[in-house]
Amino acid sequence: MFSSHKELLKSLDSTKLVGLVPTMGSLHNGHLSLIKKAVSENEQVVVTIYVNPTQFNDINDLKKYPRNLESDIHKLRNYKNIFIYSPTDKDLYQEVVSKNYDLDNLDKILEGKFRPGHFSGVATIVEKMFDIFNPDNAYFGEKDFQQLSIIKTMVKKLGIKVNVISCETIREADGLAMSSRNEHMTKGERLIAGKINKFLIKAKELYKNKKIDKIPVSMIDEINNLKNCKLEYFEIDNLSKYSSSLMDEGDRIFIACWVGKTRIIDNITLK
Ligand code: AMP
Repeated sequence: MFSSHKELLKSLDSTKLVGLVPTMGSLHNGHLSLIKKAVSENEQVVVTIYVNPTQFNDINDLKKYPRNLESDIHKLRNYKNIFIYSPTDKDLYQEVVSKNYDLDNLDKILEGKFRPGHFSGVATIVEKMFDIFNPDNAYFGEKDFQQLSIIKTMVKKLGIKVNVISCETIREADGLAMSSRNEHMTKGERLIAGKINKFLIKAKELYKNKKIDKIPVSMIDEINNLKNCKLEYFEIDNLSKYSSSLMDEGDRIFIACWVGKTRIIDNITLK
């Protein structure tokens, strides 16, 4: 494990393929699926574990974000050619601030409306990691589809030479998308959270059968009526309409909702 990027760079062979998997740690099988793919496609893989302060719009969320570095290192012990980078703020930032990016307004919709500044924080840290490690391939989850689209847009606009590779969402048995924040939920909340994905599937069926272009109000009410549940958005959208840097991958459904004090986001393709 390296906390200094300069030390890590001394161990990387620049003539070999480098894959990068940026994470905030508390690794679960969603993260591990990205890491497995990266290991299978690259000769060296850098896994970054860093709770990046610039992407948190809520100081309490940053404070209580789960941090489990020892167990993360343990989970990665059997992977070959992995370099774990778990930096301090100082190793990355002279001053902890986000840069400004032109993201074709992709940062103003959906998550951007509810988490102002979040995506410029994400873009700042990911650009920094690209700059340090100069990876051939970088792996991101569709679980955060808007984030993935923003990274693709940033890469195209800045002319960064990296393949951005999208990886499918890994789910729990009841369909809940795996997330480090899920561990904050009580048993009761966890049961409710398991219903979120069912609403996405139900809406997808409606879309396919009735060609709806909006989520019906009755479905929105149903979610808000679940115990401890508060919906932020539940929308059909196609992110490629905002940015010419994106290929058209068709409509998707996006959802964000609070279950108790835990915020859940998810999305599915409507293809
Ligand atoms: P995070 O640690 O939450 O910042 O996530 C690090 C990376 O893992 C991001 O590219 C996420 O989109 C991805 N990721 C998180 N959860 C999942 C999941 N359930 N399935 C697939 N990828 C995921």
